[in-house]
Amino acid sequence: TAPSKVTIVGSGNWGSVAAKLVASNTLKLSSFHDEVRMWVFEETLPSGEKLTEVINRTNENVKYLPGIKLGQNVVADPDIEHAVKDANMLVFVTPHQFMEGICKRLVGKIREDAEAISLIKGMEVKTEGPCMISTLISQQLGINCCVLMGANIANEIAVEKFSEATVGYRENREMAQKWVGLFGTPYFMVSAVQDVEGVELCGTLKNIVAIAAGFVDGLEMGNNTKAAIMRIGLREMKAFSKLLFSSVRDSTFFESCGVADLITTCLGGRNRKCADAFARSGGKRSFDELEAEMLQGQKLQGVSTAKEVYEVLSHRGWLELFPLFTTVHEICIGRLPPSAIVEYSEHTPKFS
Ligand code: NAD
Ligand code: 13P
Repeated sequence: TAPSKVTIVGSGNWGSVAAKLVASNTLKLSSFHDEVRMWVFEETLPSGEKLTEVINRTNENVKYLPGIKLGQNVVADPDIEHAVKDANMLVFVTPHQFMEGICKRLVGKIREDAEAISLIKGMEVKTEGPCMISTLISQQLGINCCVLMGANIANEIAVEKFSEATVGYRENREMAQKWVGLFGTPYFMVSAVQDVEGVELCGTLKNIVAIAAGFVDGLEMGNNTKAAIMRIGLREMKAFSKLLFSSVRDSTFFESCGVADLITTCLGGRNRKCADAFARSGGKRSFDELEAEMLQGQKLQGVSTAKEVYEVLSHRGWLELFPLFTTVHEICIGRLPPSAIVEYSEHTPKFS
């Protein structure tokens, strides 16, 4: 069989690290074509140069992952249709809010035998109900879509510090193993579980808990309080996932995508960092302002995920079952003060 061709759709902080991981493997493994295309949402840098031109000249994403060589076989491409045209393995890794538009642009533009994987942590809420990003990709493009989630702060993997990740798949175990082979390295240990919804919901929902953990840090409430918030958050993650999909497995929460990602994001993630600053401002500065100032173009997922989950909860009459998720959203929109995170979240939900 012909070697598989891989394209990365996205080139932010994690997208660039994903390109580096994949490109190191496509060079080594004969089952993959060496070149890895990376679609870049084009922008002009302060120097006046285009981001794609600088990436292709320096082999570095100077804006979203400065100081890291991506590998000479990574080619930045500003034209999304051109970037995906020849690929039969598509890796989706953009902030989740852009995926609906991206899918629309890709309808009818990809290979019929293409397979996808989503590294995106987030969800969409439609009138029919919640839609995970892998489902959006599958439905809009008519292709199979696995997910890869885990305790994966991009800047740490970029410098090859050891971490683990979880691939979630629906039925095709062989395809899941192919993704494991494409991403895995001695410093990035990937395993596969047959629970695509569980894996994706873990990655998505922990961002809400990380916002809560950031509030606790900003209020200087200490480690015990933060651990309590993480425990309550994990319990809500599990309950919400199982209410949405009864197939979700308990064991998934013990994989890298579950408790490990929750811990690393609550300790060192961007959601935590901005929520800390929000609480220190007494809720006076908006998340949009803090995101722009502190992340320089990188995007938060937790604030919009809290809103999306809130919509699902209120629509289904579940708000009281999820005091932590509910309170995070109400703090983010200024309805409650940051200190409410502890006062409200500790109420024992009915499902416990
Ligand atoms: P990021 O936060 O660095 O976001 C910036 C990216 O968004 C840039 O590539 C930018 O060009 C792009 N962008 C901006 N406006 C756009 C638009 N209108 N249309 C399309 N793209 C646009 O991105 P990231 O860190 O690569 O995160 C992508 C996903 O991966 C998210 O769901 C995130 O939760 C997840 N993730 C991130 C990390 C991490 O440590 N960064 C780790 C694991 C998972
Ligand atoms: P943040 O987006 O909060 O930085 O979390 C990154 C992440 O998902 C680590 O696995």
